[in-house]
Amino acid sequence: METRICPSCGAVTTDEFTGYDKPSFECPNGHGAVTEEGLLSQLITNVDGSKSVVEVGKGNFVISRGSTPSDRLTSLLDAILRLETKKPTDETVADLRQRSATNWNLKRAKRRFRRWLRDYKNDLPTITDSRMLELAERLRNDQSQVRTDNGWSMEDILRWSSSGFLYELKQYEDRLDEEPLLLVGEEIPQAIRKAFQQARECYRWGLYAAAFGLCRIVLESSVR
Ligand SMILES: [Zn+2]
Repeated sequence: METRICPSCGAVTTDEFTGYDKPSFECPNGHGAVTEEGLLSQLITNVDGSKSVVEVGKGNFVISRGSTPSDRLTSLLDAILRLETKKPTDETVADLRQRSATNWNLKRAKRRFRRWLRDYKNDLPTITDSRMLELAERLRNDQSQVRTDNGWSMEDILRWSSSGFLYELKQYEDRLDEEPLLLVGEEIPQAIRKAFQQARECYRWGLYAAAFGLCRIVLESSVR
């Protein structure tokens, strides 16, 4: 069973597994939920009544906050920039502890960025700040952040379930079962067969506009 440590009080949290809900990993001391990066996630109500998600690292450092995915991403990039430029002034014990917290926060913030990309399918909002833009590109190209294990964890399956990915697979199979069979009496040219197969694949994934486009190509090359 997976356990996570609350960055605020150090309490160990385990998920109360209740079927296919999103794992909760609530801190037993009421600090909030611990994310897979080990950050504390809290839902707060703003002055105007809207809700914001705040993710906090060690030393109450805010890693990201905002009411929209775009706000949360820009605040995350801003936090990474601030952590990278945070340099301790002298070598006292207090600074050592602060430096270790900074390194911890920086590492977790970078992992959080990668999860943001995955959650929003690499659909980055417009970033006007050139330093943030450069940072996003650098983080994206940082191969050390790429997961190398090929196995699946329960976490992956739960994520696929809550993101609708498993439902899409089910839909794929349903369309596969119901699609008309291609019955042909004579040999079809290889190129047309290939384009047709791709059109069917698009249809099975629910990409109807792409399927339509490919069908046009098939028709045009068959007529020629
Ligand atoms: Zn706690």
